Amino acid sequence: MSTTNTHVLIAGAGPVGLVSALILASEGVRVTIVEAAADLNHDLRASTFHPPTLDMLARYGLTEHLIEQGLVARFTQQRDRADGVIAEFDMELLTGETQHPFRLQCEQWKLTEQIKSRLDAMPHVTLLMSTPLQSLEHLPAGARATVLIGGEPQVIEADYVIGADGARSAVRKSLHIAFEGYTYPERFLVISTDFPFEQHMPQLSWVNYCSDPEQWCVMLKVPSLWRILVPTNLEMTDEECLSEPNAEKELQHLLPKDTPYTTFHRSLYKVHQRVAAKFRDRRVFLAGDAAHINNPLGGMGMNGGVHDAMNLCGKLLAVIEGRADESVLDRYERQRRSIAIEYINASTARNKKEMEERDPAVRQRTQDELRATANDPARARAYLRKTSMLDALERAEAIA
Ligand SMILES: Cc1cc2nc3c(=O)[nH]c(=O)nc-3n(C[C@H](O)[C@H](O)[C@H](O)COP(=O)(O)OP(=O)(O)OC[C@H]3O[C@@H](n4cnc5c(N)ncnc54)[C@H](O)[C@@H]3O)c2cc1C
Repeated sequence: MSTTNTHVLIAGAGPVGLVSALILASEGVRVTIVEAAADLNHDLRASTFHPPTLDMLARYGLTEHLIEQGLVARFTQQRDRADGVIAEFDMELLTGETQHPFRLQCEQWKLTEQIKSRLDAMPHVTLLMSTPLQSLEHLPAGARATVLIGGEPQVIEADYVIGADGARSAVRKSLHIAFEGYTYPERFLVISTDFPFEQHMPQLSWVNYCSDPEQWCVMLKVPSLWRILVPTNLEMTDEECLSEPNAEKELQHLLPKDTPYTTFHRSLYKVHQRVAAKFRDRRVFLAGDAAHINNPLGGMGMNGGVHDAMNLCGKLLAVIEGRADESVLDRYERQRRSIAIEYINASTARNKKEMEERDPAVRQRTQDELRATANDPARARAYLRKTSMLDALERAEAIA
């Protein structure tokens, strides 16, 4: 592979930064990634890969390994916390639209670790851990970043910069780009346990969205654990939410049993619905959580971020290789910012609203609608195209 003179700096070695790095580096582009943390993040975050994301990652030989390390979920369920299954959707209805007609339940760190090992073998890629980007300024044909290496400020210049440095993006803040939207008052608690809920709760699938007027929850299986996500009580401190007795109380409320649960992780998240006012500022781009954040109900954050990376890096490669004019880069913002607002934030906000609805008449209507949708293959297919983000990608392609 011949390498280009073009140098791309990527801030953040999360899924979006690393996918971007792999796409560019696979075509010989020189890439430097700066990551603030000493190690890749292994928190309990994304665990769902949607079909089109698996199709995209397959082009880079990543999907096969994720499938080996994950759990194929053919069915997803909408449940009522008290009454059980409302509607079950069979992802195989998407056969013909995707090479992967299922959701893959697999921790996001399995993707980032896999990409890191691929990048480590590429001489034109530099990955600097423990290197936070502090600030950024434009140059006539690129940008100059100040990063901290061993606590000392150092300057890195690049032809293009991708800010994939997460929700608190230093790239976004340096360029004074507003992050418009709101933050939910409640925090979300994620607890993992090896208790086999599937042997005790009738008809459970690997992906379960459980609505309830008092406290909705999400039950997601990854290969060795169940992950339970619940909203927290506003009066409790972070420490109280994260305590072992509180985790035990939440799990006993989900399924009472005589012996205590064993928990493996307990994580607490503030949850926001926000979209950056711009995704492009000259030769600097925002992607993933740096550009848009949303609640995790529907599993669209990381997936949407990977879709950003694919879209942006495809266009960047076309410009770098002289196949397109720089103006094509504005289309990245038009396409992906529209999808972040109209689709990702709108769907996830709606999912939360439906799951927490208190009005019995509205709940009944929603449940009736879900049942009718699941029972009609054409409607179920249309529903799955939306929830698996196939529709969003088709819509993005239609934006000039
Ligand atoms: C509980 C929970 C469940 C979720 N479930 C799903 C799901 O099932 N499916 C889904 O699609 N999404 C899900 N998400 C969302 C998903 O985790 C995020 O959207 C995803 O991690 C975004 O990836 P990213 O690479 O943009 O940002 P991040 O993963 O946040 O990575 C950003 C990286 O940048 C680094 N960084 C930060 N500041 C700097 C700096 N100044 N300089 C250098 N590096 C910096 C950080 O250390 C980090 O490594 C979930 C999130 C939560 C909290």
